Amino acid sequence: MNRTFIKDLAEHVGESVLIKGWVSVRRDQGKMVFFDFRDMTGEVQGLVTPKSAAMEVAKQTDRESAVAVTATVQARPEKNAQADKMNGGIELLIEAIEIVSPSGVLPFEISEDTSGINEEVRLAYRYLDLRSERMQRNIRLRSQLVQKCREYLFAQHFTEIETPLLTESTPEGSRDFVVPSRLHPGKFYALPQSPQQYKQLLMVGGFERYFQIARAVRDEDLRADRGFEHTQVDIEMSFVTQEDIMHTVEEMVTTAVEAMGFTIKEKPFPRFTYAEAMEKFGADKFDLRTPEDKEKGILAYAWVHRFPFFEKTSDGAWTFTHNPFSMPIPEHIEQLLAKKDVGEILTTQYDLVCNGYEAGGGSIRAHKPEILKAVYEIMGYSEEGTQERIGHMLTAFGFGAPPHGGIALGVERLVMNLTGESHLREVQAFPMTRGGQTSVMKAPKPLTHEQLDELGIQIKPPKKHE
Ligand code: ASP
Repeated sequence: MNRTFIKDLAEHVGESVLIKGWVSVRRDQGKMVFFDFRDMTGEVQGLVTPKSAAMEVAKQTDRESAVAVTATVQARPEKNAQADKMNGGIELLIEAIEIVSPSGVLPFEISEDTSGINEEVRLAYRYLDLRSERMQRNIRLRSQLVQKCREYLFAQHFTEIETPLLTESTPEGSRDFVVPSRLHPGKFYALPQSPQQYKQLLMVGGFERYFQIARAVRDEDLRADRGFEHTQVDIEMSFVTQEDIMHTVEEMVTTAVEAMGFTIKEKPFPRFTYAEAMEKFGADKFDLRTPEDKEKGILAYAWVHRFPFFEKTSDGAWTFTHNPFSMPIPEHIEQLLAKKDVGEILTTQYDLVCNGYEAGGGSIRAHKPEILKAVYEIMGYSEEGTQERIGHMLTAFGFGAPPHGGIALGVERLVMNLTGESHLREVQAFPMTRGGQTSVMKAPKPLTHEQLDELGIQIKPPKKHE
């Protein structure tokens, strides 16, 4: 017999079916045993009556075991059907249960909200946590959102292109995660903080409209809404203005979230200059929702633009606020080239804000070598230092580089907005613990002596803490 998905059972009333899935609940009432079964499509109640051949197995079937159940679909009495939240109209009269794979004692209750469970236990058994209703909903919603963005971008003639993971450092204001090279002992790759340089090189490469559901890896302090790894809807476009990119992103986000049934507070998205945002909200990310909007799950998107290009580091040098590859606003190009009143230069950076979070950011890029060079000079790099860091970009821009710009939207932040979750770990399948330990597996771990030898690496004894 072929498997029937639980969502389709109502079409089979009176027939014998085979379902496969897990046991959510077992209620042993002595003479009768009741079950709730679930598969990826839904839940259904089943019952084993006193004379059923399935009775013996039913008594031994523990919760969360994987099962294959042969049963007759029957309509439920009207009053039960209405009271029941799941698959109201039908139930299964069980003929046989095969325990495909039994479950041991559960380390925590997954039929309830798991967000309050001790993080280490929860992530050690993440695969069980993922079975919980909330995690299933969040991870599926994430997949749907990414699918909607992809559909929109393909319809707009974007090309999806992957960029390298083992690469050279791209500055996004964080530390790099580095990977030692066996072939070149003593040398290291960096994992990308973003595909920034490669996506710009794809513009020089003539693709004009690029996107990637890209992984970005940044060694920064862990917070509720920030992990070592995140995913971006990464976009870059050629021969466009800031308005064109903002329009494309706004349309993509609107199309995606509205297709998923969400409501946006204000369209087009309101815009604030950085100065206005600071004056009005005291921050460059803010929440425009009323308490009532919050209850209804409304999404309040807004743009922030006209950010300062540079800020001072703790030792008094200039550094970029967002992205060194950005173009200043057109009125400030001369000022940048002359390195005059550096603190007042504004960048073409635009950030997308939603419900108090920064959901994304991007800019028009400096596609002329002299502008990018000037940025690095302002940041104190010598001619050689600049060449060493971004010489390849300056060279590439000498071969008919189109004007271009783009954005990256944080997938986790977007999904946090949709689900109302306030922790990244609720919207990633396998997040890290607060202490930077992987889910289920135990990285970071020491290497074996053989591996260290092969890489030419010697580990210093850990620093003694006073
Ligand atoms: N690379 C930037 C980031 O990851 C986004 C962009 O400017 O496109 O934040």
